[in-house]
Amino acid sequence: MRNYKITLIKGDGIGPEIVDEAVKVLDAVASCCELHFEYDEALMGGCAYDITGDPLPQETITKALQSDAVLFGAIGGEKWDTLPREKRPESGLLRFRKELGVYANLRPAVVYDELVNASSLKPEIIKGVDIMVVRELIGGIYFGEPKGRTEDKGWNTMVYTRDEIVRIAHHAFQIAMKRDKRVCSVDKANVLDVSQLWRDVVTEVSAQYPEVKLTHMYVDNAAMQLVLNPKQFDVILTGNIFGDILSDEASMLCGSIGLLPSASVGDKIGVYEPIHGSAPDIAGQGIANPIATIASASMMLRFALGEIQAADKIDNAIKKALSEGYRTGDLAQFDAKEVCSTSEMGSIIANYIER
Ligand code: NAD
Repeated sequence: MRNYKITLIKGDGIGPEIVDEAVKVLDAVASCCELHFEYDEALMGGCAYDITGDPLPQETITKALQSDAVLFGAIGGEKWDTLPREKRPESGLLRFRKELGVYANLRPAVVYDELVNASSLKPEIIKGVDIMVVRELIGGIYFGEPKGRTEDKGWNTMVYTRDEIVRIAHHAFQIAMKRDKRVCSVDKANVLDVSQLWRDVVTEVSAQYPEVKLTHMYVDNAAMQLVLNPKQFDVILTGNIFGDILSDEASMLCGSIGLLPSASVGDKIGVYEPIHGSAPDIAGQGIANPIATIASASMMLRFALGEIQAADKIDNAIKKALSEGYRTGDLAQFDAKEVCSTSEMGSIIANYIER
């Protein structure tokens, strides 16, 4: 029996609903792969602010650093939108990523064959899409100084250092080596000095990976190319804000934002989370799609714990549920044989694993 300590951060909105389903699936895979998970819950986001006055209590960082991995739902909601910036749920999340040093956010966008009709693009354009967005996560404009706000002016700074670009570039090239060996680096080097540095450094790093074909693309063109011909991409390497936007765009190639998982990794503990937010508009209704979080749990098994067989079991069970026609509400109009709730979808996937 192999034991792992997992910190669960459920967060706000649909966070608790979708994390509960991922735990259900993890428990199913534990029973058939001789694994044991010890879960420890920690607070972050609006719920943490309500209880402690801080969206990221120190205890949460301590718990996370003492575990093998963090499984995270989502944070945020209108209730906390008028708080001072540093008290808001999103500030807690940014601080959490910085504290854990998770500089690389890996966002796979894979189109399930069963859902080729669910995309807003034509099936022939999206069938077979398999993109890995490698987004720098703890630098760029979300963290740059100076930043500020007066009554009539607001400003942020997009800044990257050579070292920050080098480490994320290595990460992307190493991932590409295990895939189709193509990296497209996305920037705005025609306008921004920070992007010209990005482009120069990525080109330098690429010399160490002669087997990988490197191309560069401006972010506005990349946004267009993603919907024009998404299959041209293998690994997309980009900075924090561009990656945030492009990966949401990529999610719609796949049919629903409720399908896409992510891994945030660095030198310490990794954080595994869906790419979507707390979806306050559907929270508490039992209709959220838990697949992105369940697939994030699979990424956690694969990348953080090296439990490849268990991760494969989860991925296969997700595919099976989709191919049998089970859909949550977000995908109800696409070849659904049965529309199910959040909890039913979790149970269906868990049952396929146990079988
Ligand atoms: P969102 O991703 O929460 O929701 C966008 C749309 O997608 C909504 O219509 C929502 O109902 C739908 N959706 C999202 N996840 C879904 C799921 N699993 N199943 C079905 N439908 C789903 O983005 P938003 O509305 O812009 O933001 C809501 C809150 O989430 C904000 O407070 C924002 O700051 C926060 N947020 C948090 C994170 C995070 O925790 N990592 C990321 C993005 C946004």
